[in-house]
Amino acid sequence: MTINQSGWRPTAPEAGETKASTFTGNRALMLEEALLFEIGDTDTTGVDFAAIPAGASRLGGLDRNRTIGLAGLSEPEAVRHYTRLSRQNYAIDLGLFPLGSCTMKHNPRLNEKVARMSGFADIHPLQPLDTVQGALELIHVLGKWLVKLTGMHSVAMSPKAGAHGELCGLLAIRSALEARGDKREVILVPESAHGTNPATAAFAGYRVEDIPATSRGRVDLEALKTRLGPDVAGVMITNPNTCGLFEPDMIAISEAVHEAGGFVYCDGANFNAIVGRVRPGDLGIDAMHINLHKTFSTPHGGGGPGSGPVVFSEALTPFAPLPFVEKQGDHYALVEEETAEEHHGRSFGRMVAFHGQMGMFTRALSYILSHGADGLRQVAEDAVLNANYILRSLDGVLDAPFGGSGPCMHEALFSDKGFGEGLTTLDLAKALIDEGFHPMTMYFPLVVHGAMLVEPTETESKAALDQFIGALRSVAERAKAGDQSLKAAPIHAPRRRLDETLAARKPVLVWKDPEPAQAAE
Ligand SMILES: *Cc1c(COP(=O)(O)O)cnc(C)c1O
Repeated sequence: MTINQSGWRPTAPEAGETKASTFTGNRALMLEEALLFEIGDTDTTGVDFAAIPAGASRLGGLDRNRTIGLAGLSEPEAVRHYTRLSRQNYAIDLGLFPLGSCTMKHNPRLNEKVARMSGFADIHPLQPLDTVQGALELIHVLGKWLVKLTGMHSVAMSPKAGAHGELCGLLAIRSALEARGDKREVILVPESAHGTNPATAAFAGYRVEDIPATSRGRVDLEALKTRLGPDVAGVMITNPNTCGLFEPDMIAISEAVHEAGGFVYCDGANFNAIVGRVRPGDLGIDAMHINLHKTFSTPHGGGGPGSGPVVFSEALTPFAPLPFVEKQGDHYALVEEETAEEHHGRSFGRMVAFHGQMGMFTRALSYILSHGADGLRQVAEDAVLNANYILRSLDGVLDAPFGGSGPCMHEALFSDKGFGEGLTTLDLAKALIDEGFHPMTMYFPLVVHGAMLVEPTETESKAALDQFIGALRSVAERAKAGDQSLKAAPIHAPRRRLDETLAARKPVLVWKDPEPAQAAE
């Protein structure tokens, strides 16, 4: 394949396609982008170094003695490469991103400005504490907000994502049980749980057992009570759950678990649906992670940064991880192993080497302070309103398995019921790409056949929601009419439908130079 000077190459039509009809990979300025290695010449460099006398070395004799084949590009070449790539991607800054459970809301630019302040952005975790007092104060103040908003007793700021927070919570539960000499081996997880919950419990050494859901998509309280016993360390419950529904029996669940000597872990990734309205501490929860990157709008996705602080009940607080920030007079200290016991109790240890995700902390606090307590309540209310607007607007178009049991919380759940012969949720999702939208979360939660979980978030206007609903209605009607052309979607994207099985089974993760450079003498 030839690569032209500016680094892109036109895609060839697939076998059997004519360029004019179905070949869409190169529309307008949608270019096929080559790899940096294919654009860059390993002999060139984007940086001019001052000449040095022949035979001299800047590196004290440590110069490399052969090429390592890195692509060399000038600054504009590199900038254009990444800008062209970014145009092939979809982002929250381009349009509505309805990925259920992921909370892809707008990231206010004010947060970005604050996060770039050099007193926060340019500090190092090993700096002396008296030079980072402002950063410690920020962590402390953010922690206070999280404790206040959740009605809990304390917070561990160090976990770096939701799943990491789950692990933190379960390690604290395990330590609390060990401290009373209680060996319990089972964690109960509802069928509708996020996949990270059973994975975390298994990783922490527990046996995972399912709790069934009722026909209304909630935890089956009676089944849970029947299963509780001296071997159950705790339950992990998502509230609102992954069907987008509030668990109305949460207090009864917590009481039953506590009575049986266990602890209640709440997956609080969906806190954006209830912030300012419900305090998990009032529901008897012992530990809950909060995804700052969801509820408090720090940018995420594509494996980007996260932050998963964990709030604890009074019972679990002594077992929380180290280090933690403590205000001592007008000074902020980091409490570490040496002094932990006198301050805290019996911590299970550390989650991370340093103290967490500073860039996420600054963004989250900026978001919280710019909204205020009332604004945060409105975030939850608008998120729920928007999801219900989508749910009801698609009445009679898409099957909503729990739509009959009243309003949803922050996300609307649909199934593939009524789709024409051979058509699936995947076909509908791919067709949505052609309509200009990122697909919703698919095939999750597992309790619903062909599930489609739509989370619009509160930052979408009614006009944006109407446009999305129109697109969804159009593809849903095609699916119900059995329109087999959906099978070919997407046809307007830079790439046609990918073989996801092949991509998972035989991923090509390393670029190999077709003509490897000769090692220099
Ligand atoms: C996102 C999410 C998680 C995992 O959070 P990560 O930050 O991706 O580790 C766990 N549970 C639920 C319900 C989620 O939505």
